[in-house]
Amino acid sequence: MSDHAFATRAIHAGQAADPTTGAIIPPIYQSSTHVQDGIGGFREGYEYNRAGNPTRSSLETQLAALEGGVSALSFASGLAAEDALLRGILKPGDHVLLGNDVYGGTYRLLTRVLAPWGVETTTVELSDVDLLRAAIRPETKIVWLETPSNPLLKIVDIAVITELAHAAGAIVVVDNTFASPALQQPLALGADLVVHSTTKYLGGHSDVLGGAVVFGDDRYVEQVKFQQFAVGAVSAPMDAWLTTRGIKTLALRMRQHSENAQAIAEWAAAKPEFSQVYFPGLASHPGHEIAAAQMSGFGGMLSLGLAAGVDAARAFAESTSVFQLAESLGGVESLIGYPSDMTHASVRGTELAVPENVVRLSVGIEDLGDLIADLDEALARVRRVREQ
Ligand SMILES: *Cc1c(COP(=O)(O)O)cnc(C)c1O
Repeated sequence: MSDHAFATRAIHAGQAADPTTGAIIPPIYQSSTHVQDGIGGFREGYEYNRAGNPTRSSLETQLAALEGGVSALSFASGLAAEDALLRGILKPGDHVLLGNDVYGGTYRLLTRVLAPWGVETTTVELSDVDLLRAAIRPETKIVWLETPSNPLLKIVDIAVITELAHAAGAIVVVDNTFASPALQQPLALGADLVVHSTTKYLGGHSDVLGGAVVFGDDRYVEQVKFQQFAVGAVSAPMDAWLTTRGIKTLALRMRQHSENAQAIAEWAAAKPEFSQVYFPGLASHPGHEIAAAQMSGFGGMLSLGLAAGVDAARAFAESTSVFQLAESLGGVESLIGYPSDMTHASVRGTELAVPENVVRLSVGIEDLGDLIADLDEALARVRRVREQ
């Protein structure tokens, strides 16, 4: 599949028709174990399903093909994937350098779960190469970045950071959840590993949790695979299958998410009610040029700062109807969230805290006119409440 373009790989990689019946969709292998032909006589290598399941294998082949990796592993959630990666690669005494606005759960995993086991974590503003250079230590094993970041959509230059990290002997992990591989290919830009919350754009329909690690080369595959097998946070067959099904329309969905989000960002930029519009597709965004160079679209996530402050932001988040108030992102349906009390509650009071006048939109693929009308009505409602 590697000689085919992205949209073709997304539909066909790992998805060969069932050889016994010709079913065009490979079966969901809803089974916990596999019969052996004599002791140790495994068919296609399958024994017990914590170690491997054909539906999971089919998703892992598809994930590797999407990111241009040598292989991929699929997990029960994005954080389970991150945990397996970190424990597979790090040892006590190692240091992890995190971008200063990475996903709150990643920060929590490192500082509250892994820190007691001797892994040290510091955060840094990755868009400033001098700060990055100063923050890297001899013990730095991993530089972890997210671009665009959550929820402020900051953009960092993957190739530049990778070059610096490699020169210092560190490896680079990119959380590619926000862009998805349809819009950004970190391994091709030099990154060593990619992680995903497949719960988001890859699954795409808000009906399954999942995570993935994709490997740019063979160095860490066995260590992380061992964690997957020994700890067992694997994706279940039905979850793997739902994710595979979602991925087949990824290229198409990302185009529509990007188009809708661009239009909404431009609409918001013209409204005095919003003091900030965080969206890399706007020429005024400080990361616009880097995003335009390293992404093939700007994605469906955007955040808005309400000029009137905290109360207006909270009221706005509670006033939409097509945009539903919920955590998560990346589904076909539009969501609105209030990060400082929702997705980013775990980083309140830390250096990763989100401004309290910010709402985050996950722009879905509904009709654009309906989405803008919904936001317009919410603004009117906020105005009425404030005038009372
Ligand atoms: C949601 C998310 C995660 C965590 O994934 P889960 O599937 O919720 O465990 C990690 N990184 C980013 C950027 C996310 O949005």
